[in-house]
Amino acid sequence: MYQKVTNFIKTLYGNQEFTPLAVPVFVGNEKKYLNECIDSTFVSSVGKFVDRFEEMVAEYTGAKRAVVCVNGTNALHIAMMLAGVERGDEVLTQALTFIATCNAISYIGAHPVFIDVDKETMGLSPVALRHWLETNAEVKNGVCYNKRTGHRVKACVPMHTFGHPCKIEDIAAVCQEYHLELVEDAAESIGSFYKGKHTGTFGKIGALSFNGNKTITTGGGGMLLFNDEELGKLAKHLTTQAKVPHRWAFVHDHIGYNYRMPNINAALGCAQMEHLEEYVLNKRETAQRYKEFFQNEVEVKDEVEFFTEPENCRSNYWLNVVILKDKEAQLKFLQETNDNGVMTRPIWELMNRLPMFEHCQHDSLENTIWFADRVVNIPSSVRL
Ligand SMILES: *Cc1c(COP(=O)(O)O)cnc(C)c1O
Repeated sequence: MYQKVTNFIKTLYGNQEFTPLAVPVFVGNEKKYLNECIDSTFVSSVGKFVDRFEEMVAEYTGAKRAVVCVNGTNALHIAMMLAGVERGDEVLTQALTFIATCNAISYIGAHPVFIDVDKETMGLSPVALRHWLETNAEVKNGVCYNKRTGHRVKACVPMHTFGHPCKIEDIAAVCQEYHLELVEDAAESIGSFYKGKHTGTFGKIGALSFNGNKTITTGGGGMLLFNDEELGKLAKHLTTQAKVPHRWAFVHDHIGYNYRMPNINAALGCAQMEHLEEYVLNKRETAQRYKEFFQNEVEVKDEVEFFTEPENCRSNYWLNVVILKDKEAQLKFLQETNDNGVMTRPIWELMNRLPMFEHCQHDSLENTIWFADRVVNIPSSVRL
């Protein structure tokens, strides 16, 4: 049934015996910088690559300040803290996301509330967000409360799913109206822009990830983006054990975290950043090839739909998405492609279906469930 698809993907990726979903490429200065890093003996969290990597990402994204972390999950953890989220608060986010978003909320002792995504972006729907707030929330003295639970609703964390920017301007407007802090989980969307502005720079804080399967990688790594320089400074302080700078004394003024990325990872990051734009263009070209194939190939065009970037956006097409007709077709597609050496996978199990989060509040999740039953990710690595 999907033989043509398997063949097309195999050809696209140079007819390997096995075509993985997303693998990193190291064709630039990675080895050179790693050697420099080792020769300098500065392999830990102090070193020139760490600072340079932050500057490169700040410049590329247009953020006032970027602060590295050991991974994207703890970048989100710090983001929750700096957004003022506290134990018992509620945080509005998507059920259609990777677990890290919800884990970060949980580390604070706060509770995720799952809001539906929209059909155009697979990201948080500003319409569903407003609807939930109109039904469940009230603002008293500039603080948003859930009328039913009495809990404070402190923040909103939309995610730019698979690199496609969500309707972030509309979401920001709703957040402003309801006095919610906006934190963007931009872990999947480095290189993705909404109306020419980089994802992760619309809210109070944005979080990026440089895990091995992301568009660029540092092995493990994350980054916080800020428009407020002071908040960025505080983030650096908290991620470096809140040590008061001094030549020899060890004095700390806060409970801090050992979350700063080592120089050895940042060396990789600097080399990867030098090729980011080229990788994104390469991935966009691959997406274009997929789009043409799925639109024109007679045997599949009525069965499989390729998901394209939303309006006014430039997506990095981190992981390409096809939409199958139903759950049965989804399973069949997964089975056939994986049986034939082409790695594909369904969307993450929805957060509200996991034991830790099944008791959390959620809305109808209509589109979320629709996608969960139909989405398959297909190979998306940069093509050399
Ligand atoms: C990758 C990812 C993260 C961060 O993951 P790390 O592996 O900790 O860097 C967070 N949120 C989403 C949606 C992700 O895809």
